[in-house]
Amino acid sequence: MADCIFCKIIAGEIPSTKVYEDDVCLAFRDIAPQAPTHILVIPKQHIASVAEITAENSNVVAHIFEKIAQIAKAEGLEEDGYRVVSNCGDAAGQTVHHLHFHILGGKTLTLTMA
Ligand code: AMP
Ligand code: ZN
Repeated sequence: MADCIFCKIIAGEIPSTKVYEDDVCLAFRDIAPQAPTHILVIPKQHIASVAEITAENSNVVAHIFEKIAQIAKAEGLEEDGYRVVSNCGDAAGQTVHHLHFHILGGKTLTLTMA
């Protein structure tokens, strides 16, 4: 999608530090990390947010979660634990309107639910 920063990362028009890539998804390091390990996992298909997950595209999300588990293990986060977050919409603070899952780990994370 034009003017989508994450679509541009997928297209290679904006550089990223790739962690994992396949036909369905891309994982790369967040440019402004909130934890020692902060990775974003995005579908290659432009889906705006969690609110746009449907029966037709939820297989992509299932695939991404399978990869999140593998990436977290490869990054050494499995033993201590990690957080997976997806902000949906303005009130949640979503700044990039291309579905993404944050993987956060490498420290003890505070419980900020609101
Ligand atoms: P959110 O606020 O949940 O929409 O998360 C968007 C995330 O994208 C933020 O954590 C940003 O730091 C991150 N981000 C924005 N631009 C880039 C970029 N070019 N490369 C890597 N991460 C980015
Ligand atoms: Zn996009």
